[in-house]
Amino acid sequence: MPINRVQFQRGMSLSEFMREYGSEEQCMAALERLRWPQGFRCPKCAESRGYRVPRGGRVLLQCAACRHQASPTAGTMMDSSKLPLSTWFLAIYLISQAKTGVSALALMRQLGVSYRSAWLLHHKVMQAMAEADARQPLSGDILLDDAYLGGGKPGKPGRGSPNKVPFVAAVELTDNSISCSNDY
Ligand SMILES: [Zn+2]
Repeated sequence: MPINRVQFQRGMSLSEFMREYGSEEQCMAALERLRWPQGFRCPKCAESRGYRVPRGGRVLLQCAACRHQASPTAGTMMDSSKLPLSTWFLAIYLISQAKTGVSALALMRQLGVSYRSAWLLHHKVMQAMAEADARQPLSGDILLDDAYLGGGKPGKPGRGSPNKVPFVAAVELTDNSISCSNDY
């Protein structure tokens, strides 16, 4: 089962985080880099030329050869969610940085979302983190394992990287086990 890791340095300040991932465009660009660290490659025909097309507030990459449209969020728990990516990123940040845990109620207040959205965000992120933790060593199709958010200086990829904390948060990529309901 593929995993798309979104990792933040522990101790990254909130203002630092907001500077890097505060906007929808920044979050989308980060997911794009995670999915295609070597640059876009069409999942259907392996073409490397593509262009971005806006779709419902997000961005798809359309293959210049076969016109297949690939989404940087495909397979992630963010994919079927109507919440902004920046809200997801901030939720992951808040949950992964908190030493004693964050309640859904606290998330609701900090993110400015409904309690239902906060509860679901909390549930999905905690579930993804727990599942990724339980699967160590990570097996299967691991996507973008050496691309980290907030990694700073380039270093050795993976857990042993001196510039990275071992594991902070994971975003699950899955076919069916983690999908958000439509009114989410
Ligand atoms: Zn193609």
